[in-house]
Amino acid sequence: MDSIKKLADLFGKFPTVGQRTASRFVFYLINQPKEKIDELIGSLQELKNNIKLCRFCFNPFESNEAFCIICQNASRNKQLLCVIEKEADLISIENTKKYNGLYFILGGTLTLRKTDGSNLRLQALKERVKEGNFLEIIIALNPTPEGRSTSVLVERAVKEISQTLKITHLAQGLPVGGELEYADEETLESAFEGRK
Ligand SMILES: [Zn+2]
Repeated sequence: MDSIKKLADLFGKFPTVGQRTASRFVFYLINQPKEKIDELIGSLQELKNNIKLCRFCFNPFESNEAFCIICQNASRNKQLLCVIEKEADLISIENTKKYNGLYFILGGTLTLRKTDGSNLRLQALKERVKEGNFLEIIIALNPTPEGRSTSVLVERAVKEISQTLKITHLAQGLPVGGELEYADEETLESAFEGRK
C-alpha cells in the first residue's frame, strides 16, 4: 500500500478523525522537517513504554506503581464506585472536584456492531464489585442511545454480584445525546448531585 494511504488509514481510525482530516494530517507531516518526525516517533514510543493502566480502574498513568494516583489516595471514599466509558470522562468528573470516590473505566459502550458487551470490561467490573466494599455504584455513562443500553448491561452485571447494592444513574440535565466529556462543570456537578 502506498505510504500516504497507509498512514491516512491509520489516522482515520483515531476517535473523531474522518478520512478528510486524516489526509490533512498526512500532508502536514510530509511538510515537516525530519527532526519533527523523529520527535513524534519518539513520543509515541515513550507513551507506549511508560504509560500503563491502573490495575484497579484502568486509568492510564506513568509510574512504577500498580495503582493510579486516585486509587492510591487514602482520602478517597472507597465505598463509592463510578463506572464511566473512557479516560476523558474521568478527567471531566475530576475537574468538578465534587466526586471523591473511585472510578472504573469500562473501555467503551455497546455499538451497532458490538451488542454483546464483549468490547467492555464487564468481567473485571464484576470482580471489583465482588472484592470491594462498595455502598453505591454510580453508572455515569453518556445520555446517548449507546450509553443507555450499556447502562442496562452494567446494571445487570452489578446485580449478578449483589442484589442489594445501591445503583444510581446521573440525573437528567446532561444535554440529550450529549457526552459527559463536553458537559460544562456546573451541569456535570448537578447531574452528580441529583443522581438516583
Ligand atoms: Zn486507578
